[in-house]
Amino acid sequence: MGERIDVLRLGHRKGRDPRITTHLALVARAMGADRFLLGGDEDEKMFENVRSVESRFGQAMDLEYLASPMGWLRTFARKDAGDGQPGTVVHLTMYGLPHREAIPHIRRDRPITVVVGGAKVPPEAFSLAHHNVSVGQQPHSEVAALALFLDAWTEGAGLDRRFDAPKLVIHPSARGKSVTEEE
Ligand code: SAM
Repeated sequence: MGERIDVLRLGHRKGRDPRITTHLALVARAMGADRFLLGGDEDEKMFENVRSVESRFGQAMDLEYLASPMGWLRTFARKDAGDGQPGTVVHLTMYGLPHREAIPHIRRDRPITVVVGGAKVPPEAFSLAHHNVSVGQQPHSEVAALALFLDAWTEGAGLDRRFDAPKLVIHPSARGKSVTEEE
């Protein structure tokens, strides 16, 4: 599915955000991201919840806590995306350019980090980003913004990603639940 996709969640607050940050991680996992990076408060419980989904439904995504997320982003954007060359930073913000118009201008030959904000977004996120991208010009949800962006970026293929070693596999069914347990 092309170059690596990281999702960076800025400003996680352990007391207030676990549910929405878990949803962000689950959307990232379900829709094609290779790694979920957490900035703000460290939250092992939140990571455990996501790992529990991974252990039941299959491995797809790494999780990592960043003590210095803006430092990490600076390095990624300007110097090193893991291979000694800069990566591409896409910052999701309602102030940016509409995602369907922006996506054709985003390079696909480098790893990408999709940044989603929290309660407060450091101004540097706007200046470090190669692309400030909006999903509509109204404030809504980081979960919705991430899902719609990833769907458009992967042209829908993110939802068809493969999961390694699932214990449970869901089979589409018009009625009821069809699930098999794997060996
Ligand atoms: N008040 C914060 C600020 O300083 O801009 C933003 C709060 S908002 C609930 C949290 C995050 O959701 C944003 O940083 C952005 O990543 C995402 N978001 C919300 N609405 C969006 C939109 N229309 N387009 C793109 N991203 C959006």
